[in-house]
Amino acid sequence: MVDLVSQYEKIKPAIDSAILDVLKNAQFINGPEVSGFQDELKSYLGVKHVIPCANGTDALQIAMMALDLKPGDEVITPSFTYIATTEVIALLGLKPIFVEVNKDTFCVDAKAIEAAITPKTKAIVPVHLYGQAADMNAIMEIAKKHNLYVIEDNAQAIGSDYHLTNGSVVKTGTIGDIGCTSFFPSKNLGCYGDGGAIFTNNDDLSVKLKMIANHGQSKRYYHDVVGCNSRLDNIQAAVLRIKLRQLDNYIDARRNVADYYDEFFGPMEGVQIPFRSHDSKHVFHQYTLILEGHDRDGLNEYLASKDVPSMIYYPVPAHRQKMFESFGSASTNLPTTDWLTERVISLPIHTEMQEEQLEYITKSVAEFLNK
Ligand SMILES: *Cc1c(COP(=O)(O)O)cnc(C)c1O
Repeated sequence: MVDLVSQYEKIKPAIDSAILDVLKNAQFINGPEVSGFQDELKSYLGVKHVIPCANGTDALQIAMMALDLKPGDEVITPSFTYIATTEVIALLGLKPIFVEVNKDTFCVDAKAIEAAITPKTKAIVPVHLYGQAADMNAIMEIAKKHNLYVIEDNAQAIGSDYHLTNGSVVKTGTIGDIGCTSFFPSKNLGCYGDGGAIFTNNDDLSVKLKMIANHGQSKRYYHDVVGCNSRLDNIQAAVLRIKLRQLDNYIDARRNVADYYDEFFGPMEGVQIPFRSHDSKHVFHQYTLILEGHDRDGLNEYLASKDVPSMIYYPVPAHRQKMFESFGSASTNLPTTDWLTERVISLPIHTEMQEEQLEYITKSVAEFLNK
């Protein structure tokens, strides 16, 4: 689905020397690369605080820990997402309330959020799925009206621009109270191992987030709250500093692939190409088609036989996972989520795709669909 080898080849001299520098200085934890990356990401995102951490799941967990929620408090989240978004809610003894997504954007439906609010609701976790922003203007309005926190799961959409109703353009992940991201290697901004970060414009929250990510420590060996140990290491930060400079180029490359696919699949019967919202810039972490009246699983197998990778993101929605059995969430009525689960298929999309690869992939898909 991605070609990290070819991508590395293009930035190899810079990456190799940056990693060697870390080795020479042997400052592996909390080194200068981490603070350098933190500052550069802050200015790229236009956000006041960036707290690097060990991975995207930790970012979500630390964000939720910083809100001082009580056991049983409800957190509204889409079911159509990667499991990490929803898992951390349950891990902290909170109650995930799974709601429906919009059939076009694949992102959480604002009306469904409002309908799910109860006196126990404390937070909303929208996910900018596949690289396109959720309906943040509507979500922020709902949050304000009901006094709820908003934690954006920005793991798939780093670098995406969002148009606020007040006319300003901001980066996704900087709109809610807290934004979370992952630097997993295959993400749009990926390192060479695990990594993550938390963003906020709120000074008080930033202090808390920093403390929680570092054993609840306020000053050395003084621990004020229960926290965890979640750090980005210096080697990963060195890699990320180099790749952050390429992020906008990487996004353009992904969007070019999406344009090619759109042009090919747009006219095809029973194939819905990704919807592009006017509010945001799609950064195409995934290129996901909806197939109607076609054998989706058959296509998936056919492509595998042609050595074309394809993926079903995600084959089981969160509310139907065994993990959440005790919450009784499988009985939640989410017809759009179930409908999408049976029809979506994601094709290879990355920064290094060649025209002949795109020709081969599209030809292979068409061979099966036109059969
Ligand atoms: C990747 C991802 C995460 C988790 O990130 P990790 O770094 O793998 O822990 C969370 N949410 C979404 C939507 C993701 O795609």
